[in-house]
Formats: sequence, structure tokens, C-alpha cells
Amino acid sequence: MAAELTAQQVLRTWLLTILGERGGSVPTARALTEMERRYGKLLSEEDQSLTRRGDESKWWNRTRFERKDMERAKLLVPASESRGVWTLTEAGWEEYRKIERAEEVEVALPVPIQPVGKESPSRAEVTTQRVVRSTAVADYVKQIHDYICQICGTRLITPKGAYAEAAHIRALGQPHFGPDVAANVLCLCPNHHVLFDFGALVISDILIVTDQRSGASLGRLREAPGHEMGRDFLTYHRMCNARVVEPQV
Ligand SMILES: [Zn+2]
Repeated sequence: MAAELTAQQVLRTWLLTILGERGGSVPTARALTEMERRYGKLLSEEDQSLTRRGDESKWWNRTRFERKDMERAKLLVPASESRGVWTLTEAGWEEYRKIERAEEVEVALPVPIQPVGKESPSRAEVTTQRVVRSTAVADYVKQIHDYICQICGTRLITPKGAYAEAAHIRALGQPHFGPDVAANVLCLCPNHHVLFDFGALVISDILIVTDQRSGASLGRLREAPGHEMGRDFLTYHRMCNARVVEPQV
């Protein structure tokens, strides 16, 4: 099981999201229950374990620590004034809007030259928030692997040509906010894309693919020159999916 703690920045994003969606303020106890309800399944075992004092989970302790940091950064009204209600300041609202902001962008680069991508992919307002993905990044990764699945080696041929899918390791949307760059993308067949997205498969830093349901190794991820996969993203994916699969009885 993963021993990683959820990054403070991620906790901050979650907290800002909850505060923004709840009209700018929530009582402390409500912040705790909302965080658990919305993001509990993303917490690692390490997050859920108790602090040394043993009176609260590490993730909640770190969230409260983050709240103080946000107060120092003037994103939240000081606790002394808000009397147990966590409240966004105007600057806090601005941070929340940055998370929600929708920006349409045009992306079209068909040639397989590694594109820069976007560290913070823009979001477009539809009925819900939808991430505008860079087709250039997806096309680059698929082309450099010649549409061969990095897990099983399958190359699907359709009447319209070879077909593969670009799978983001750290998802783009809320609450993950992964970057839309080649290092955060795998070239996979549709089956392995689904299994990877749902956390049935995880990938180690040395690129060994493991089926979490059986514990079996599926071998090493296929690599291609010019496509370095970000180990931080793989770690994040493992962390998010460490608890998805219940132990078999
Ligand atoms: Zn495959």
C-alpha cells in the first residue's frame, strides 16, 4: 500500500473547492465531513493513519495546518475573527475562481514533434467543467509509440488506420489537476486505458505494471525514445488508487 501523503497543495485545492462551492464559508466540522465525502476515496492509508498524538488523522491534521497557511496567505479570514467558520477572503475567492476559470484554447499541431503542452490545461464551461485537452500531446504520444499499447503491445487496426488511446496518468480534471504534457500521458489500447483509469493496474517507478486485483505482474511498460514518463505522475496514480481494490476474501 502507498505510504505517500496527499500533497499540501492538493489539500488546499480541495479546501478551496469546498469553500467556493458552499458560498465561501463552512464551519470546521462541516469542512471535515465535506472533505471526507468529496475526497475521502483519494486519501492514502498513510493519510488516514493517526498523528503521533493519536487524536486525529494525518490528512485532517495537515488540512488544518494548511488552513493556517492559507490564513497567513490572506486567503482565509483569520480564525480569531471567523469564530470556527472557515471563510474565504476576496483573495481566497480569486484563488477559487482560478480553479474554476474556463478558458477556450485552440490547439492543433499534427506533426510528431514533442509539443510543450500546458502545465495548467484550460477549462471550458459546458454543463459541467470540461478540460480542454491538447490533441497535439495525445497525437505525439500515440505516434511515437506507433499506436502500440505500452502495456500489452497490441496495435489495433481499423478501416481508418491504427487506433490507440492517450491515457493521462494524473487526471486533468478536478481534483487532480494533472498537466496536459507528454510525460503525463501513456499510449494504451482501450482495455488497458479503462483498467488503468480505474486503478486496476498500477505502474511502479521502474515501470513494472501490476494488476492490483491478483497482484500479478504484467511485465514492464513499453518505452519509446522521446517519451519520458513522469515518475511523479505514476506515484500520484498509485497513491490515488492504493485503496480502490478491496482485498479478496
Ligand atoms: Zn493493451
